[in-house]
Amino acid sequence: MDLYEYQARELFASYDVPVLGSRVVTNPADARAAAEELGDGLKVVKAQVKTGGRGKAGGVKLANSPDEVEAKAEAILGLDIKGHIVHKVMVAEAADIAEEYYFSILLDRAERRYLAMASVEGGMEIEQLAVERPEALAKIAVDPIVGIDEAKAREIVAAAGFKPEIADQVTNTILKLWDVYKGEDATLVEVNPLVLTPAGEVIAVDGKVTVDDNAAFRHPHHADFVDNATEDPLELKAKESDLNYVKLDGEVGIIGNGAGLVMSTLDVVALAGEQYGVKPANFLDIGGGASAQVMAAGLDVILGDAQVKSVLVNVFGGITACDEVANGIVQALEMLGDAATKPLVVRLDGNNVEEGRAILAAAAHPLVTMVGTMDGAAAKAAELAKEN
Ligand code: GDP
Ligand code: MN
Repeated sequence: MDLYEYQARELFASYDVPVLGSRVVTNPADARAAAEELGDGLKVVKAQVKTGGRGKAGGVKLANSPDEVEAKAEAILGLDIKGHIVHKVMVAEAADIAEEYYFSILLDRAERRYLAMASVEGGMEIEQLAVERPEALAKIAVDPIVGIDEAKAREIVAAAGFKPEIADQVTNTILKLWDVYKGEDATLVEVNPLVLTPAGEVIAVDGKVTVDDNAAFRHPHHADFVDNATEDPLELKAKESDLNYVKLDGEVGIIGNGAGLVMSTLDVVALAGEQYGVKPANFLDIGGGASAQVMAAGLDVILGDAQVKSVLVNVFGGITACDEVANGIVQALEMLGDAATKPLVVRLDGNNVEEGRAILAAAAHPLVTMVGTMDGAAAKAAELAKEN
């Protein structure tokens, strides 16, 4: 899960990473109140969206007074920044900036370790810096067993060329950011810019943190970072049932077992759908144990999508045999009752396929059509979506 900047900042503050005071608000009046609470001095109003480049998009503005904070918040709220609508802004004490630096720690999957990156030329887009002046971006491998200790932090500071007067401060900040990375099971902690004030203080002005959802069980408080208001309601419902669901923009609902099979089903339906002007409506992997409950939960989510006109169930029986899946489908349709309203095309193959097909044939549910091949099933589902 990617965190909002204000959430990253809360984490930074709790790990003693130097940040300035801030509040997050959802309307201009509250922005003014927040500015008054924060006291005198220059403020910065920042769009809270999970994408970078907010500054260039007009989503970061300085303000001299509570009046100005209110006006800037008004201007920023509702902006569309790269497809993300701004629902919240952060009002923060503005840093006086003498220099802008870059620092990040990330998971380097290919090398099976962590990577720290630092540059004294921060502020600009780091991707651009990496391409145009790669020598200005220090990249230091971090052994995951050892992590970033003081020696490693000093190595990073030296490699990036931070000036001697601030070496201790930057070292300290890097160690604190490592505490965040490790303590929160993050896969990314990025500060761009890390700034130096004219008074000689080093402060994190922006923060980007990604936490590893696989470690969520160790961090109950990460659940508080989920922003239900901006999540798709169907994806939320799927998450509640532990389903792997991604909503797409189409008419043919898809259920399959195994991510690979579901991905290829999407491709086949996309191709078959061209002729009928329909597309896959979602990705949904019900995983290995396709029990009736899981099948019912999956169908329930997909049928909740008003755009869906037909559903394709594509299952390859492996550990879970086709007869169990067929029973799952029959029972799921019983459980859903009148809530099941759209035609279902079922393609079963693999372990115990004959038994599975016999169960579906015996149930003879009026909404269910069985098709033997994946291509045939995709074509049928696309055709039914067009007709409905
Ligand atoms: P991003 O564009 O989404 O990465 O948002 P940032 O938080 O990095 O802000 C973009 C730019 O706005 C920074 O590089 C700074 O130049 C400027 N900025 C952000 N916060 C402050 C601040 O507290 N004081 C000043 N003077 N400028 C700021
Ligand atoms: Mn930034």
